[in-house]
Amino acid sequence: MNEYDSNRIYDIVKKINYTKAKKLSDANCYVLNTCHIREKATDKVYHDVGRLKKEFKNRPKPIVVVTGCVAQAEGEVLLKKEKYIDAVIGPQSFHLINNTLQKIENQNKKINSTEFDVIDKFDTLNQIKTSNSDISTFLTIQEGCDKFCKFCVVPYTRGAEFSRSIDELKKECKDLVSNGVKEITLLGQNVNAYNHQEKKLSHLIDELSKINDLKRIRYTTSHPNDFSKDLIEIHKTSHKLMPMIHLPVQSGSNKILKAMNRKHTIEYYLELINKIKEANPLIRFSSDFIIGYPGETEKDFEDSLSLLEEVNFINCYSFVFSPRPGTPASLLTQVNYDLAQKRLAIFQKKVKEIKIKYRKKLFNKKSLVLFENKSEKNSNHYFGRDEYSNSVIVKTNENLKGKIKEVKILNGNHSTLFGEISKVDKEKVFAA
Ligand code: SAM
Ligand code: SF4
Repeated sequence: MNEYDSNRIYDIVKKINYTKAKKLSDANCYVLNTCHIREKATDKVYHDVGRLKKEFKNRPKPIVVVTGCVAQAEGEVLLKKEKYIDAVIGPQSFHLINNTLQKIENQNKKINSTEFDVIDKFDTLNQIKTSNSDISTFLTIQEGCDKFCKFCVVPYTRGAEFSRSIDELKKECKDLVSNGVKEITLLGQNVNAYNHQEKKLSHLIDELSKINDLKRIRYTTSHPNDFSKDLIEIHKTSHKLMPMIHLPVQSGSNKILKAMNRKHTIEYYLELINKIKEANPLIRFSSDFIIGYPGETEKDFEDSLSLLEEVNFINCYSFVFSPRPGTPASLLTQVNYDLAQKRLAIFQKKVKEIKIKYRKKLFNKKSLVLFENKSEKNSNHYFGRDEYSNSVIVKTNENLKGKIKEVKILNGNHSTLFGEISKVDKEKVFAA
């Protein structure tokens, strides 16, 4: 979501004649868009500002603005602790950035802009055409969260759930497609909680599918409890919807899920996965896990490991529990740091093994790859993604940017697959 926000911040500042600097040392304004989901985010801000100070030691200081969730959470503290920072702007106030920049330019004032005005933000953004032309990009459709998992800072930094209207999203999507975008990932902290005047995510996907030159649609991140029947159904019928679902579970233990206030059980989660697979057997899943949540015993951790095997996730993001200031879980007794790190290493090793096994099964099979750009290192290497978001590289002299090609996968590792373009193209799902 920060990537989407950064793109939009750029669209806004362009209005007052800011352009992107080629390198840091060329900049006279520095916007640091931050994430607060896990620890060290605030440390990173001070570290980055330290780098800036060094870079500009003997030159005029650039304007320094911290945006995003760290700005929202820390606000005044950042301004007081680090005088080099000129303004903090929360994620629901970044549409006001031009005002802030002009005030700093003219009055040399420190500014704290951390109001929650999500309606005003999107009203402003709707008036500003997106300049993004990446082949694959993000589109925020929903923001905020009402679920209050005990570990999570999102409800406090992004605010309550809010969904944008179908009409404004269609317009923004059409603009992106006319810029050259071929694949859209619809974004939300709980993307499948999308609901605008009783129109749900499935309806939005249906509407966006009608945009001719839009080739692929993905969405993230889904909450298991918001996975409604209509959303499962659309995976049966939509040709543009990719067969890969990111469905965070957080833990394989019902005891831990309850302690987290996740409001779902493992049995419910597995049943949901089965229902989705019944609708479309080609669908594969990825997930998020938190390791070492307060109270996690060896048995709870083993339950998470077992769930990995049972679902056969093709990708998983795992993090050691990070106590976020202001969340209920931050007050609980922590699992020993070394133990949590040890469990994380075991967990990630298992994730990698499953991933490598899955990827080996793709060798000598064909996948449909949407190509995004040339590799920076090798000009005859093209980078793209298959339907399951696996990175694929092929060697070619052809300009493949924006094209979907059938690729025979030759080999690969846990991060990248290598292949060659097939002789005949077919727009069909191959890999399973
Ligand atoms: N809304 C999604 C859901 O409920 O599944 C998740 C969105 S959250 C912004 C992204 C991921 O960050 C979570 O799935 C979780 O695994 C991780 N996360 C959030 N808070 C965390 C914390 N305090 N410590 C470690 N990981 C955390
Ligand atoms: Fe955070 Fe997701 Fe829980 Fe909301 S549902 S509080 S975003 S983890």
